[in-house]
Amino acid sequence: MDSKELFFADANSSFEEARFVIFGVPFDGTCSFRKGARFAPKSIREESYNLETYLFEHDVDLEDVPFHDSGDVKCESLEEMMGAVGRTVGNILEKDKFPIIIGGEHSLTPPAVRKFNDIGVVILDAHLDFRNEYLDEPNSHACVTRRVSELVGTENVILLGVRSFDRKEKEEGDSLGLKYIDTSKLKEKGMKKALQDVRWERIYLSIDMDFFDPSFAPGVGNPEYFGLSPEDAKECINILGPKLVGFDIAEVSPPYDNGNTASLAARLIRELIAVLWKSKTK
Ligand code: MN
Ligand code: MN
Repeated sequence: MDSKELFFADANSSFEEARFVIFGVPFDGTCSFRKGARFAPKSIREESYNLETYLFEHDVDLEDVPFHDSGDVKCESLEEMMGAVGRTVGNILEKDKFPIIIGGEHSLTPPAVRKFNDIGVVILDAHLDFRNEYLDEPNSHACVTRRVSELVGTENVILLGVRSFDRKEKEEGDSLGLKYIDTSKLKEKGMKKALQDVRWERIYLSIDMDFFDPSFAPGVGNPEYFGLSPEDAKECINILGPKLVGFDIAEVSPPYDNGNTASLAARLIRELIAVLWKSKTK
């Protein structure tokens, strides 16, 4: 684990004292379009310093919440990244703490999910990520949902906000019973109704930042228009909060960002921590 000078704002606890542990995964080795997600953990941490410690809607001050930022894992290759994510998540879970992973590209999700038992996985993403392999790489960021489905069972995965499909991956997803609510259906239903059928008691939430419309989140690896709004993700975090056991946020690409994408990611992490703390203490 590399120690970095700048930690996520208000992450003032030691690992031992913390209930929630952040770590960064500065990796974009399988990125297929706008490279740069390896700079995202730093950029998101920087943006976190703009935000107030007090979240008035939850009456939670993050200065009172024991959470830790253990810095970035070393990940120069895909294999190294997957190993490091698995080990780090395993270590956090072993100590009965909650992992909050800052990508990096989306390929970090399967090695994280692998460390949990008895979970459902909710993925916010513009893309299905259901290709069996992409450019000969089965662990590509374009294959995340496929790998996660193999780990937890296709019936224990749901995607929200998808709007970009390869015909073959859609057909394969449909034939394997992959559940997803596409962008227009999600807008029609609203997040609350969409989550009514999510009945798992233990949920891992993964947010690919291209879930959002590029007008909100321009700095992503694979931008897709006609997307969702920040309120949708905030609502999702609030509804699922008490059942969450793990979280990641991926695909911010700082070289293409005006700061807003990293800022939104930082804000969502702060929302998550407040919601988790509230659900465990109030
Ligand atoms: Mn995506
Ligand atoms: Mn993705």
